[in-house]
Amino acid sequence: MKIFDLMEKYGHEQVIFCYDSTSGLKAIIGIHDTTLGPALGGTRIWDYDTEEEALIDVLRLSRGMTYKNAVAGLNLGGGKTVIMGNPEKIKSEELFRAFGRYIEGLGGRYITGEDMNATTKDMGLINQETDHVVGLEGKSGNPSPVTAFGVFKGIQAAAEEAFGTTDLTGKTVAVQGVGAVGYHVCKHLHEAGAKLIVTDIKKANIDRAVQDFGAVGVAPEEIYGVECDIFSPCAMGAVINDFTIKQLKCKVIAGSANNQLAEDKHGDMLEEKGIVYAPDFVINGAGVMNVYEEMKGYNVERAMSRAATVYDNVRKVFEIAKRDGIPAYKAADRMAEERIEKIWRITKILNNR
Ligand code: NAD
Repeated sequence: MKIFDLMEKYGHEQVIFCYDSTSGLKAIIGIHDTTLGPALGGTRIWDYDTEEEALIDVLRLSRGMTYKNAVAGLNLGGGKTVIMGNPEKIKSEELFRAFGRYIEGLGGRYITGEDMNATTKDMGLINQETDHVVGLEGKSGNPSPVTAFGVFKGIQAAAEEAFGTTDLTGKTVAVQGVGAVGYHVCKHLHEAGAKLIVTDIKKANIDRAVQDFGAVGVAPEEIYGVECDIFSPCAMGAVINDFTIKQLKCKVIAGSANNQLAEDKHGDMLEEKGIVYAPDFVINGAGVMNVYEEMKGYNVERAMSRAATVYDNVRKVFEIAKRDGIPAYKAADRMAEERIEKIWRITKILNNR
């Protein structure tokens, strides 16, 4: 494993390996790019098979955060941590406090929060050693309703692109996954007059959406082929792939799930099929906007009004796509890169501060 080659490939500034023999902590912090501000990104706890797998995951995820934070218009760079080990077995006070001390040692260059298998309780233990942590109990709380509102605004932006109007009255939206985010997306869509088709692997979640919003429930494998205007993936990644793309009858794909395209080529295929795609890390950006508000003293109204800017962000992606003649998924990357480049350039002003 050639670590510096990998850092060059992914464009990283810094990678920190943290080991503590008392707690057994094995963590890797990836700081990808801090042009816009301190690197923010959550801590994932996962039982990786190899150290290489953990390193590549943290490099990939922290780079993704640079792009997500940049398009969200936040003054934040991108970072992420992976803690290696079985989340059922390794958690302890000393492990999270040891990790907190490593974060404190970075002097604010990196701010952590929750990710897969990490909880608000774990963040509380980290917080005993450092203030560079968000997602704390009693602060911004559950981000899902805020994320969902942003996704709804993003769906409106994508609908405008496809149908010439943000009005969703009578439009049929197929929602995959009616969990924490998907349920609230359905609520907004229902209030906006849309018809809903929903699926989930948990029957109770389907039943709730049927009862609360008059949705039609279908089996998980059926959702791709249903007749609809908009497909909203709100469950898991890689759902736009060789197998599903042939089945799609929608004109728009706009949902909260991370990493929706199995491969880049699927973004090109959507373009060829004339399907408007709202890139995942742009449309689900209100989750990170919500924790950003926590850093400034949380206020739910301010978080919601920031979440509404997802509409403008998704519109901007389509503008760049048209300006440069590229598919939306590429335009989203370009939007992030252009903002980082421009902000980097203005740092020459007052450089002698
Ligand atoms: P969640 O676990 O609460 O909801 C996901 C739902 O999808 C669950 O109800 C689950 O049963 C269902 N599901 C899982 N596999 C499925 C399948 N094969 N077919 C149909 N349904 C399936 O998670 P969430 O917090 O609502 O997040 C949903 C997605 O949005 C995830 O990809 C997440 O990474 C992303 N996201 C969430 C937030 C947030 O604020 N929660 C922010 C940004 C991105």
